[in-house]
Amino acid sequence: MAKRKLRKKRKPRRPAKNWRKFWKLGIDEFNTEIFGVNKDGDLTATEGHHIYNLNDLAQKYGTPLQILFPFIIEDRLKDLIGYFQAYMKIYGYRGKFFYHYPMKVNQNKEFILPLLSEGANLEVTSANELWIVKKLWEGERFNTKIRVFCNGPKTHQYLDLIEELRGKGMNIVPIIESNEEIERVSKLKGDIGVRVDLNFKADTHWDKKFDRFGLSERDALNLSKIKNLKVMHYHMGSQIKTQKSILDAVKHGFGIYRELQKTHPSLDTLDIGGGFGVPYEKKKFYTAKIVSSKIIKTLKSLSDKAGIRHPNLAIEWGQYIVAPAQVTLYKVLSEKGIPKANAVAWYIVDGSFMNDLKDTWAIHQKWHVIPANNMHTPLKRTWLAGSTCDSDDKYTEGGNYILLPKLREDGDQLVAVLDTGAYQDALSSHHCLLALPMKIIAKDGTVKIARRRESPDQIGKLFGWTNGDHK
Ligand SMILES: *Cc1c(COP(=O)(O)O)cnc(C)c1O
Repeated sequence: MAKRKLRKKRKPRRPAKNWRKFWKLGIDEFNTEIFGVNKDGDLTATEGHHIYNLNDLAQKYGTPLQILFPFIIEDRLKDLIGYFQAYMKIYGYRGKFFYHYPMKVNQNKEFILPLLSEGANLEVTSANELWIVKKLWEGERFNTKIRVFCNGPKTHQYLDLIEELRGKGMNIVPIIESNEEIERVSKLKGDIGVRVDLNFKADTHWDKKFDRFGLSERDALNLSKIKNLKVMHYHMGSQIKTQKSILDAVKHGFGIYRELQKTHPSLDTLDIGGGFGVPYEKKKFYTAKIVSSKIIKTLKSLSDKAGIRHPNLAIEWGQYIVAPAQVTLYKVLSEKGIPKANAVAWYIVDGSFMNDLKDTWAIHQKWHVIPANNMHTPLKRTWLAGSTCDSDDKYTEGGNYILLPKLREDGDQLVAVLDTGAYQDALSSHHCLLALPMKIIAKDGTVKIARRRESPDQIGKLFGWTNGDHK
């Protein structure tokens, strides 16, 4: 009896789970180093001394909500340029490095301005993107030394704008995209480039067999002499899966560059395009630090062996720089049971995957989906559905499941989708006339609205319903 009395009553003390780790936050290789979980179980993001509470932002501004952190863009670009410049120095590489931001990846002003301030050059794909460059220039938003590569089919309007801006002293470089363009583009004075459709398949979603971009290797090598040919460009597609694939493309591309340089001694720049991937799934992935080192080492050894000048190197990694800078938040509206599946319930959210995160539907993009509140509470296996009436408007993690908190009687459940800064904006749409998410910018501890939530009237106007029409 006495013995039993002496025994201390033990409280059931389980060690607190490391929720930050559980949700794969705070990890550099996954680009989640700025994210954390506070004591209330809310998702937070840290910029220097400032901490943003994403749950509070969603309560304040409403959902669906996109939150952009421009400092992430700045930091990523600064680091990337730093890697290439450092390795060029270390290996004694004598070419120069140029970063060209491919504007199509995200044309929002709040994405472009931080990139320009960190020294990005640009790559555009259409006359309308080039028109934005013109506006930036007129507003003196960048210095004239910035170089702009012009890809995509050259309509008359596009060529006229190229000529107009060159006439103003801007460094605009049209890239020949097809045999039809050779004559028109090579007549222009000043630097020009050529895009080559490499006879090489990288490990990506891109369908290389039926590629329609650029000149074939043979046509490129048979080009009759263009005096001012400066740049050879290739692009292997987005989200390349392996480091080896990126490097093999560089080796193959260098072979063509070297041949082309024999007939075009003015050629001095190799532009290896975009395609560097993002670890959306938070699994082990290759890193820019290592790949940049290997690219420089490879190009140095190949050009030394061939006895030619080290080419200037241009890269157009877009997704890599901007995807991690934006988070999209939704609120769960309701729940529906699912019999016999990997998940036990649908969570229906107040936005749309088909509209706001189009790649979910278009290329079966996988996302890192986590709760933005109640991050320490019991979990449930879910699938997510959007608010349109379309059965394809869903995200199921490829038929697997997404772990999210069980819904509670009191209060909303918020869902965060990370890495949404690349491509989704320009691809977004208005299926079922849902409004686009509101977009806010979090910078230096303050928040400002970049795009308000569309009103029914504004959306109606997109479809021809101007005031008074419906009478
Ligand atoms: C789309 C595109 C890019 C950007 O590709 P990412 O996968 O985002 O890096 C770069 N260059 C060209 C020519 C492109 O078409």
